Amino acid sequence: MKQRITSFLSSLARWIPLRLYRLLLPRPHVDFFYHAVSDEAMPHVRWLYPVVPVDEFEAALRYIKARYTAVSYAQLHAHFTARTPLPPNAVHISFDDGFRQCFDIARPLLLKYEIPATFFVTTDWVDNKAMFYRNKVALCIERLHADPAALDALGDFFPGERTLDAAIAWLKELRLPDEATIHSVCRALGVDWEAFLQEYQPYVTREQIRRMQGEGFTIGAHTLTHRKLRGLPREEIEREMAESCRRVMDITGQAVVPFSFPHSAFGLDRAHLAEIRGRHPFIGLLFDTKGLRRDVEFIRNRIWAERPLGADSVKPLPAVLHDAYQDAWVEEVLARARRLRGG
Ligand SMILES: [Zn+2]
Repeated sequence: MKQRITSFLSSLARWIPLRLYRLLLPRPHVDFFYHAVSDEAMPHVRWLYPVVPVDEFEAALRYIKARYTAVSYAQLHAHFTARTPLPPNAVHISFDDGFRQCFDIARPLLLKYEIPATFFVTTDWVDNKAMFYRNKVALCIERLHADPAALDALGDFFPGERTLDAAIAWLKELRLPDEATIHSVCRALGVDWEAFLQEYQPYVTREQIRRMQGEGFTIGAHTLTHRKLRGLPREEIEREMAESCRRVMDITGQAVVPFSFPHSAFGLDRAHLAEIRGRHPFIGLLFDTKGLRRDVEFIRNRIWAERPLGADSVKPLPAVLHDAYQDAWVEEVLARARRLRGG
């Protein structure tokens, strides 16, 4: 029964126009986040999520410019701390992880369209001092796609069935504590991630961060290591948040550093997060990944803009926005129905 109601609501939700959704689900602002914009293949990224082609990103910026008012992090911060009003139809854009293409490609386009943005960087990767374990995994997947016979080289690390799909699914499940295994797989497949890190320089540098900040962009922190915070000891969660924000503060001189959660803030104790912000007043608003869902006021949810459409394209921004409204509307209707039944 519940499934039938949900699928009925979902099909109804598809027909509600965006304009009506804005009235049904009023939000002070809509937030979009990206990782990578490039016409280059980005082998360390493209097996994890789509890389947004430059013209599609530009189309998204034109859409925002025409229909919304892009606001800076400072405007959001002032709104949620000092009740300064936001303009109607406010939109904020941000980027997670701190790939070099944020500086090379996204930044000039944002400047061209005069759209403010926040760049959240994983501070251990700045200056290409370390490499994200998932970027290493993606290089392994790239290698397997190029040469499926390399599957045989996986040896005993890989416990599953020797098919490309099974190997890729297994690789994608590996996490930071499995980094030793990831390194063994890299060696077995001949993936020289250290050379890639030095030659390709996948991440932004301190110099580029300072330049972006000087141009009016806000720099945020995205932890030190990109670990999933859920399940870590409380003091580790605090260190990942506070220390990464402090490092951004050291680089940029910003008095306030916003923070975005790697993966998501699911399962994290909101009271603990409030305590952490209270102890480290330089930590700004926190950003999560749950679309248009409401959370405590200091956590701002964002819509993940990189949704695949075909092999080489992403969904246009209005469609991504519509999907997010659909999900949020169905969820709110079901929650309201639950409350009515309960009371
Ligand atoms: Zn991330």
